[in-house]
Amino acid sequence: MDFTLSDEHQMFQRAIRDFAEKEIDPQVEEAEEKEEFPVELFPKMGKLGYLGIRYPEKYGGPGFDKISECIYIEELNRVCAGIASGLMVQSGLATEAIFYHGTEEQKQRLLVPAIKGEKIAALGLTEPNAGSDISSIQTTARKDGDSYIVNGSKIFITNGTIADFVLVAAYTDKSRGTKGISLLVLERGTPGFTIARKLKKLGNRSSDTGELVFEDCRIPKENLIGEENRGFGYIVGALKSGRIIYGARSVGVAQAAFEAALQYAKERVQFGQPIGKFQANQFKLAKMATAIEAARTFTFRAAWMLDQGIECMKEASMVKLFATEMVQWVTAEAVQLHGGYGYMMEYPVQRYFRDAKMFTITEGTSEIQQVVIARELGL
Ligand SMILES: Cc1cc2nc3c(=O)[nH]c(=O)nc-3n(C[C@H](O)[C@H](O)[C@H](O)COP(=O)(O)OP(=O)(O)OC[C@H]3O[C@@H](n4cnc5c(N)ncnc54)[C@H](O)[C@@H]3O)c2cc1C
Repeated sequence: MDFTLSDEHQMFQRAIRDFAEKEIDPQVEEAEEKEEFPVELFPKMGKLGYLGIRYPEKYGGPGFDKISECIYIEELNRVCAGIASGLMVQSGLATEAIFYHGTEEQKQRLLVPAIKGEKIAALGLTEPNAGSDISSIQTTARKDGDSYIVNGSKIFITNGTIADFVLVAAYTDKSRGTKGISLLVLERGTPGFTIARKLKKLGNRSSDTGELVFEDCRIPKENLIGEENRGFGYIVGALKSGRIIYGARSVGVAQAAFEAALQYAKERVQFGQPIGKFQANQFKLAKMATAIEAARTFTFRAAWMLDQGIECMKEASMVKLFATEMVQWVTAEAVQLHGGYGYMMEYPVQRYFRDAKMFTITEGTSEIQQVVIARELGL
């Protein structure tokens, strides 16, 4: 058993931290204020291979492991969870199914430009009446000669209003339940594909979130990913990997909140001494640091399992549940330690608190993670 990061992992961690602090951090305030994702980051990060972190060199990525992806995601989220949202959908959730199940033509047409940052990707599962229960989606894709005709809508879609293509879950055979769901690519500009609205959010404001509508969208059969009616399985695979990533996201935001609170506790003076001298606050910070470390270690373990090809459905859900709940508490304590200043928009700690709330909801709520864990326990 070896709990140290390899030299390569440490080198990569320094590189991505440096990049995030120099290239992303200066853009955070404006992007959050305008509620706009800084799209110029896509080609910039694409040139450095960051958008294809786990994809092989053949497609333009560095071919790194899951642990490297966790390092990458933690460092991005330490600087800005909103911007990280858009980037992580691009490098993972919205492109993974194409990599694992797409044809070579689809990889060249969609994956390679996404890795280069020339095309923006999104994943559309959620609908106004279907979130946790994917089987209740109403979007359909009807075969018509060499095409599919897609009808339906998607909501809360990250990168939704800026995406060049969206991987959409749709029923190709409703009678088969989840075994009748397929994944299809809808490209921007397809007649009948409209962006209904851009959504305003509590947190993660620099990420783009949209509602999309498809009305009789005719798409070529070449836009089907993998096999017809196998989409649900592809989604479950991508979500398992994504849940480990939510461990890294949570650790990144919690780390940022902790660093801010620690610094503030050393600087803020009340009753003639820094507030960090009061044992109550020392205990708070000690427990915060412990919780973050526990979540980080657990995240790396699940990532290691995935890298080794060890089944980790249960662990992935446990990581998401544990780490996303941890960051709720850590960010709330960080606000508390800042007192009234913590409630003011001029201190970043309020942003960490707002951003973290999203994490117990997206990619399977905390309740759904418990459903999965209980099922894996044989209940
Ligand atoms: C900022 C943001 C970005 C997002 N990005 C994307 C994206 O890019 N692509 C995409 O497809 N979706 C995206 N989503 C959607 C997200 O994945 C869903 O919001 C999430 O899956 C929950 O679905 P819902 O909102 O419909 O809630 P619901 O499923 O309606 O759940 C409501 C409540 O009921 C609980 N609940 C539901 N079922 C059960 C059960 N069986 N047992 C116990 N409790 C239950 C839930 O835990 C929750 O507390 C995003 C959401 C947000 C907020």
